[in-house]
Order: sequence, then structure tokens, then C-alpha cells
Amino acid sequence: MTYLYHEHSWPQLREVAKQKPVCVIPCGTTEQHGPHLPLATDFITASMISERAVQRVEPNALLLPTVCYGFNEHHMDFPGTIAIPGTDFINYTANVGLSLARHGFDKILYVNGHGSNRAFLEIAAREVCNKSDAFAGVVSWWSLIPNELLSTVLTSEVPGGVSHACEMETSAMLYLRPDLVDMSKAERELGFRPGKYMWRDLRKASPLVFNEQWSRFSRTGVQGDPTLATIEKGRILVDTVIENLAGLILELKEREISPRVDHH
Ligand SMILES: [Zn+2]
Repeated sequence: MTYLYHEHSWPQLREVAKQKPVCVIPCGTTEQHGPHLPLATDFITASMISERAVQRVEPNALLLPTVCYGFNEHHMDFPGTIAIPGTDFINYTANVGLSLARHGFDKILYVNGHGSNRAFLEIAAREVCNKSDAFAGVVSWWSLIPNELLSTVLTSEVPGGVSHACEMETSAMLYLRPDLVDMSKAERELGFRPGKYMWRDLRKASPLVFNEQWSRFSRTGVQGDPTLATIEKGRILVDTVIENLAGLILELKEREISPRVDHH
């Protein structure tokens, strides 16, 4: 029995759905990641991490095809970026989840590889919860790394050093797809000047939530220090994420969904 949703025939899928595996949907983007990383970075990390976690817990989970485009208008000044408007992205991803609910699946997990997708996927997951009997949620892969581990493994300045095509993301790619990383082109760039209430860092969000066109503050498309990236850092971080994602999937699988009560 395969863990790949799309490799089943429909009669097979009907039987698989009866076992109620957790449906894992990797979501990324196609966008600039500086001169040293490929455009596919966000969907490569989301899909490879998701696949390895699903392999660990099968048959408790099914892996859906990856959503390779996301919300990233703010990167359009850099060639290669494919930008999907926010409402389109919400509707598209919500309908993936809602379709799964109509086939009988009751746990849906969006695994996000692109920071700016998160807010939209959160709404998509809520749409699934509100419009079906399924439970849906979203997790960005880096949020599965404990803070203590982040601060011991990563040495980039805080805040602002871990943001985009940075030490963390480049390390993850060195571990997962070293053939696509050109470290000779990696360049440290910290063009966004942090303030007291606003900064860009995946380790800890600033109080102010914002995003602007990246060409306003970044020349290379990088915000962070990819020159500090290593395969070993990637291995430690990514393997931790895979372990915790597998744990999250099993927790979702076990979780009971209580019936609604209409108190009118
Ligand atoms: Zn990225």
C-alpha cells in the first residue's frame, strides 16, 4: 500500500479513506532565493520533509501532491518568481482540503515551506474546519524546531539573520539537495534594518507584522547569512523537524473530533 495519495486508483482510495489516515499537503512557492539557491527551494523543503515524515508513520498518513506556487508578490522584482494572489491561494488550498473531506478524510495537515504562505494557509485550514466535518491545521516546518536548538545550531545575528535564503534555509538545502546549492555564490546580506518593534526573523516574529517589496532592501534577494550554512546544521535541524512532524501527524491521527451542538 503506497503512502502517495495520487498513486492510488479511485477504488483503492475509497478503501484507504476508510482508515482515515492524516492527509499531508506540502505547500511551497516558486520564487527567488538569492544567487545560491534554486527557485524551488520552498517546495523542495516542504515536500521532502513531509515525505520523510509520512514514510515514518505510514499507514497513518497519506502524502498529497505538493502545492508549488504561493503568495509572493513581494519577490516579483526578481526574475523567476511566480506569484499567486492571496485570495486565489486561499481558495485553491482550501478546496484541496475540502475535496479530501468530501471523500471521507477527517484530518488535513498543510505543511508550509514559505513564510508568507502561513497567514493564507491558516485561513484555508479554517475554511475546511468551518465548511466540512474535517479538522485541518497548518504547520511551517521551522516552527517544529525547539528554540533552544535553534539558538545552539544557528549563529546568525538576532534578530534579522534568519529570514530568507539564510543560514537555516541554506543549511536545510545543503542537507536535502546539495546538488542545487552553489555556496560559491552565497552572500551575506542584512539589508532590512531591524527596529525596536519590527524585524525579519523566522526564529522569533516581531510585534509588527508586515512585508514589503524585497527589492527595497535586498540587492541579492537574501536576508540573512547563508555563508554560515553547513550540511551538518541542516541535518540536525531537518531531522528534528521530521521527527516532530511525524509526532504531530500521530497526535492528529489519534485526536477525536467532537460532534457539533446546535444550541439555538
Ligand atoms: Zn524559502
